[in-house]
Amino acid sequence: MNVIVIGGGSAGMAAAVMLARKGCEVTLFERGARLGRKLSASGNGQGNVTNADMGAAHYFSDDREKVARALARFSNTDTVRFLESMGGIFLPDPRGRVYPAGRQASSVTDLLRGELARLGVDVRLNAQVTGLSYENGFRAVCGGVFSADKVILAAGGKAAPNFGTDGSAFALAENFGHTVVPCRPVLVQLRCDPAAVRGLKGIRVDAALRVVRRGKTVFCGRGDVLFTESGVSGDAVFRASSYAEKGDTLLLDFVPDVAEERLKEALKRNTGEEKLLCIVNNGLGRAVWKRAQDEDALLRLLKAFPLEVTGTLGFAYAQATRGGVPLGETDEDLQSVKRSGLFFAGEMLNVDGECGGYNLQWAFTSAFLAAEGVLS
Ligand SMILES: Cc1cc2nc3c(=O)[nH]c(=O)nc-3n(C[C@H](O)[C@H](O)[C@H](O)COP(=O)(O)OP(=O)(O)OC[C@H]3O[C@@H](n4cnc5c(N)ncnc54)[C@H](O)[C@@H]3O)c2cc1C
Repeated sequence: MNVIVIGGGSAGMAAAVMLARKGCEVTLFERGARLGRKLSASGNGQGNVTNADMGAAHYFSDDREKVARALARFSNTDTVRFLESMGGIFLPDPRGRVYPAGRQASSVTDLLRGELARLGVDVRLNAQVTGLSYENGFRAVCGGVFSADKVILAAGGKAAPNFGTDGSAFALAENFGHTVVPCRPVLVQLRCDPAAVRGLKGIRVDAALRVVRRGKTVFCGRGDVLFTESGVSGDAVFRASSYAEKGDTLLLDFVPDVAEERLKEALKRNTGEEKLLCIVNNGLGRAVWKRAQDEDALLRLLKAFPLEVTGTLGFAYAQATRGGVPLGETDEDLQSVKRSGLFFAGEMLNVDGECGGYNLQWAFTSAFLAAEGVLS
């Protein structure tokens, strides 16, 4: 069988390997000059490929039940088995995030690229597919016209367009009558009122963070929070960005391991801004002290420092896309319900995961489903 895979990211490369191993003749089109550019940058360059704590609760989609069924067919252990079948060792860190033992994301791309070459997959680089149609078989336009029995569309979402994903490939799906759930950036820095973060730029703290909407907590987390010129970044904020919307309030607890009573006692022992020495970072302490009118306000600011979310830094700085082709427009193998023989994989679909290896897991899970569908 002759199969075209559009997009040489994690999902496209994995699907091409899975199909070629089963004897399919595969052509992989990648618009960039290299395969797996985003994969090579993932996990701060260390390649957080999946997570030991797996489940659909970590995902956002129009059909979370289908995500659960998909993960049951190809889970985190399958991802590790698949990657290790090409070489290497993959291990979880204490927080369950799974990385290659060598902690180099580009080496994961190298594994996949090497396997594609060994299997004789026809990899076309600098090859953007600009049109896709069906007439007694698929026809992909990429300079010339290429025919195929089946197609896997794995061209990514809109996040991080510097890696080739500007959302233009959604038009290939729309051409077959698919809709696209409007996209927004997630796993991204949050913007806040600049006045609220003035003087805090560059300060990094370990904080507990809550996202509050109309008085209701929609997310709780703990981790690094880094103040930037326009808002907040850091791994706790990236996780919160999957939940936060414009108008929500972030409440930061700068001393999450200290009960209020103990904090009150400690604050009595000194005067002025020296009250906060050895309680929080000095720069943060000065800024909080300036804002507090009295002791009660100081306590409140330390335990629930409010920041109103005004937006995000946008797709250019995002790690993932919320939105895309709805799962509801695909069958259990991620085959289009509009055109049989057309399959989807990866971030192009309306599935995004939390920070921690969940998006790459989805890339591998969806690649497996689509490859199974092509072969059935
Ligand atoms: C900086 C960064 C760090 C990240 N870290 C992690 C992490 O640690 N763990 C994790 O789970 N997730 C992480 N992610 C998210 C994860 O990398 C992506 O969700 C995942 O790579 C998506 O895979 P994909 O194959 O669907 O899409 P992509 O990897 O985006 O690949 C799509 C490919 O399709 C190509 N393409 C687009 N249109 C066309 C066309 N018309 N013709 C031909 N080719 C086309 C693009 O050039 C691109 O190479 C990170 C993302 C970023 C940006």
